[in-house]
Amino acid sequence: MNEKTARDELIESIRTIPDYPKEGILFRDITTLLGNAKAFRRAVDALVQPWAGSKVDQIAGIEARGFILGGAVAHQLSAGFVPIRKKGKLPHETVSVAYSLEYGLDEMEMHKDAITPGDKVILVDDLIATGGTAEAACKLLQSMGAEIVAACFIIDLPDIGGRQKIEALGVPVRTLVEFSGH
Ligand code: AMP
Repeated sequence: MNEKTARDELIESIRTIPDYPKEGILFRDITTLLGNAKAFRRAVDALVQPWAGSKVDQIAGIEARGFILGGAVAHQLSAGFVPIRKKGKLPHETVSVAYSLEYGLDEMEMHKDAITPGDKVILVDDLIATGGTAEAACKLLQSMGAEIVAACFIIDLPDIGGRQKIEALGVPVRTLVEFSGH
């Protein structure tokens, strides 16, 4: 398979919506990638390719697009799936972490019993921008004793620098395509 063509096709399968959800933001919409059978399979295959055949216990997905990708990745690696959700959505006992958004704070949670200390975990989301969301998810997982093998995203916005924030936690970052700007 020609790598360049595969990446180009992946980029072309992602729709960009200017000024959503607010002016100045270029929203990278992966619903078009998910709706394209070839692109969806290719993205899932490429995300897990470095870990094909190695033992991964759990895939942790960040609500909501990370659930769709994370479920497919978990199936591919024969791993379990752990949802990381917004505050108040999970029914059993939870652990939570606060993280800052552009305005104010938010909290994300996971079930207390979702991770066994020492579990090898891969974190999955669709896109990394500032890295604030993924950093909080990593801290939550690490606080429960997870060994985070990697954090994987389809899209990197390298001008914003989130990757460095995650790598500073000692977590390797895998991304498939890059878009310049915000
Ligand atoms: P951040 O915490 O800044 O890395 O933001 C990452 C989260 O916000 C991910 O869950 C993304 O789905 C979402 N996000 C941030 N910027 C964009 C964007 N330009 N297009 C689509 N989603 C975005």
